[in-house]
Amino acid sequence: MRYEDLLNMIKDFDILIVRSKTKVDREVIERGIRLKIIARAGSGLDNIDVNAANAKGIIVINAPEAPVNSVAELTIGLMIAAARRVVELSLKTKNGVWHKAMGVELYGKTLGIIGLGRIGGRVAEIAKALGMNVIAYDIADVTEKAKRIGVQLVSSLDDILRESDIISLHVPLTKETYHMIDYRELELMKNGVIIVNTSRGAVINTRALLDALNRGKVAAAALDVLEHEPPREPWELELIRHPRVIVTPHIGSQTKEAQERIAYEILKKIGLILKEGA
Ligand code: NAD
Repeated sequence: MRYEDLLNMIKDFDILIVRSKTKVDREVIERGIRLKIIARAGSGLDNIDVNAANAKGIIVINAPEAPVNSVAELTIGLMIAAARRVVELSLKTKNGVWHKAMGVELYGKTLGIIGLGRIGGRVAEIAKALGMNVIAYDIADVTEKAKRIGVQLVSSLDDILRESDIISLHVPLTKETYHMIDYRELELMKNGVIIVNTSRGAVINTRALLDALNRGKVAAAALDVLEHEPPREPWELELIRHPRVIVTPHIGSQTKEAQERIAYEILKKIGLILKEGA
């Protein structure tokens, strides 16, 4: 739905259910004079002005558990695809070029997970089963979870950047995480590092990543999320066309199973709120 249409219609609705594309900003919330519930059919709340909603007593709900496994499986798939150059070599083969290029195994490699939350935790579990050495950095106390999965926690972002062969990002987009991977952070990484991002595009400075790929500092990047979706800036277009970049159009939750779980969770929560009035 177009933003202008939402602004015009919102006054008539008690409940608004959106996915990631619709921006529910202060203006929408101010005009939603009947609004009682804003539901995000998915995980991240960065397209909703939660403070503005809370200030008006509007309940904001989401379904953060529902897409976890789908995003984690995509993350691991992207990791393998980047390590074995699957997309690049598939394209070459289709174009008649028989190039048996060398890749690397994941087994025995150090995977650095930034954000050991729901998705980061599930990625860690699968990566352990693949024989990876998993380390993680999180600002919250995730000691118990790390112990249960067999993940070694490091005490700073810089440590994880220095020690990892592959880095996977699983933090929410906040003021603190905006461009948390910038020129300085990329420089701290190992030469030939692989970066996977299925969290939010703006967690990485696109221009810094492009520069690191061009210099060979970063061997490959696999991205399900971009700073602008769809990409529009010249450097974003250059990034997605880079031969060592794999890109997917924000499909982390795009599975039959995740969508069913999301719909079920959201409707269950709305039902409970309406029933209990809380
Ligand atoms: P979560 O809240 O369960 O986990 C996030 C973790 O990051 C938490 O443990 C938190 O403490 C940690 N964290 C926050 N700020 C940090 C910082 N500055 N440094 C280190 N750690 C920090 O979230 P989740 O459900 O696992 O989702 C993770 C990310 O995946 C979010 O950005 C979400 O929007 C994104 N996501 C993407 C898709 C997709 O389609 N690609 C689908 C669902 C979720």
